[in-house]
Amino acid sequence: MKNEVQRNTYFPANGAGLIESQLPVEIDKHTALVVVDIQNDFCPGGALAVADGDKVVPVLNKYIEKFRNAGAPILFTRDWHPPDHSSFKEQGGPWPPHCVQNSEGARFHPDLLMPPEGVIVSKADKRDEAYSFFQGNDLTTKLRERGIKRLLVGGLATDYCVKETVLDGLKYGFEVFHLDDASRGVNVEPADSERALQEMVARGAKRIKLNDVVMKSKAILHEPIK
Ligand SMILES: [Zn+2]
Repeated sequence: MKNEVQRNTYFPANGAGLIESQLPVEIDKHTALVVVDIQNDFCPGGALAVADGDKVVPVLNKYIEKFRNAGAPILFTRDWHPPDHSSFKEQGGPWPPHCVQNSEGARFHPDLLMPPEGVIVSKADKRDEAYSFFQGNDLTTKLRERGIKRLLVGGLATDYCVKETVLDGLKYGFEVFHLDDASRGVNVEPADSERALQEMVARGAKRIKLNDVVMKSKAILHEPIK
């Protein structure tokens, strides 16, 4: 038990000292799961593969099952670029072409559990870059209207879209949990993921794993987010 507590402590940015996060995290009607960019191009063999990117799929599936059983919302984000997207090298951006709309690379990983009630959120579908799923849509309003207060975020990649989604979630006033066992980083520099995690925690995110997430009682089933 002592180890549990230590693993789930974090240092807040204001230097107030070690703080214990509220664990376990209970899935209730105010909690949503955000699965970030589990697309072929970010998995081994893809145009912008994250090392072991596909390894997060079975773990995410377990989170998805828990949320399904709770009747809680599940959102799937996807990079969804036009062929001349500004992030591509040909247009002066940093990345090779990836996740071009309707291409095989843009499809979700075939092993990812995608329940019919899951909500797909496309991002960066115009020329401009967007790393966070909050950018360029009215999702924040929709989540607030539904009474969502807490987001559990995992996927690809820790040092880009997961990080930006976590930070934006915090910025917009959500309580945000990073799924340590269900994210992997690109690590252009070897320590990028670790730095990203430190930044998330410094801004108030909490780091959790599958066993920290429980469902006490069946949550009230939601209207699907449209
Ligand atoms: Zn992209």
